[in-house]
Amino acid sequence: MFNSLAGRSVIVTGASKGIGRGIALRFGRAGCKVLVVSRRLAEANAVAAEILAHGGTARGFAADVTRQPDMQAMAAAALDAHGAIDVLCANAGIFPAAKLDEMTEAQFDAVIGTNLKGTFLSVSACLPAMKARQFGRIVLTSSITGPFTGLPGWAHYGASKAGQLGFMRTAAVELATHGITVNAVLPGNIVTEGLADIGEAYVRAMTASVPMRRLGSVDDIANAALFFASEEAGYITGQSLVIDGGQILPESLVAFEL
Ligand code: NAP
Repeated sequence: MFNSLAGRSVIVTGASKGIGRGIALRFGRAGCKVLVVSRRLAEANAVAAEILAHGGTARGFAADVTRQPDMQAMAAAALDAHGAIDVLCANAGIFPAAKLDEMTEAQFDAVIGTNLKGTFLSVSACLPAMKARQFGRIVLTSSITGPFTGLPGWAHYGASKAGQLGFMRTAAVELATHGITVNAVLPGNIVTEGLADIGEAYVRAMTASVPMRRLGSVDDIANAALFFASEEAGYITGQSLVIDGGQILPESLVAFEL
């Protein structure tokens, strides 16, 4: 179904690890030319090397999504290396926990700056190249946290992730006549390298709250991103897809006992 993606030029932000790395590797396996972006060049290069080792095409690039010049340089690097920008996966995000009574203005700004402003800066940097070819697929990584659920310590994060969906809807309308779609994947709890630091008790509790009784994999998210990026999804825009094993569905804990 996704043969149409072969040869496409794809940018993935926040791709040095976690979900972004999974998305980059998945697009690499689909035959795309991938620009692997994170603030740390060595880590971005390591993921690009994984794609190359499997016969794909990739390059690492160091850029901070909170800085407009970095995002413009990122778009220029994709054009230089791969000749176009067909797909942008705006995935970079941070999630430092702080409850409201201790959350500082700086922490709030950092989360909004990376997750929401970073979405705007990465998307806007890629638009001239996409508009020039009247083709583009933009896939945002949002979350169930914010758009659907709340978790103590993550008010700033939830606001940023819900904000991404507000951004997406207007962007989708503005870009509809340019052949550019804008959609979002909303992961539930996904197994990433960072999960080990959070601890076994958290993982056990989270797993128990998922009707499928397993946490998600990075491939679960990457496959959805791949679908939104495909030719075949060309009539879908401004939509969000929850990928959470059913986590947001139970009406109460009783749902697990019936
Ligand atoms: P992660 O493992 O911590 O990886 C985050 C990535 O973002 C890293 O590659 C990091 O690389 C990069 N990054 C952070 N700040 C950046 C910046 N200012 N500029 C450029 N790159 C930056 O996170 P993850 O769990 O994979 O999460 C990825 C996305 O999925 C986030 O948007 C997150 O909100 C969302 N999400 C995750 C989950 C989950 O369960 N993991 C659930 C829902 C939503 P450098 O440090 O090298 O810059």
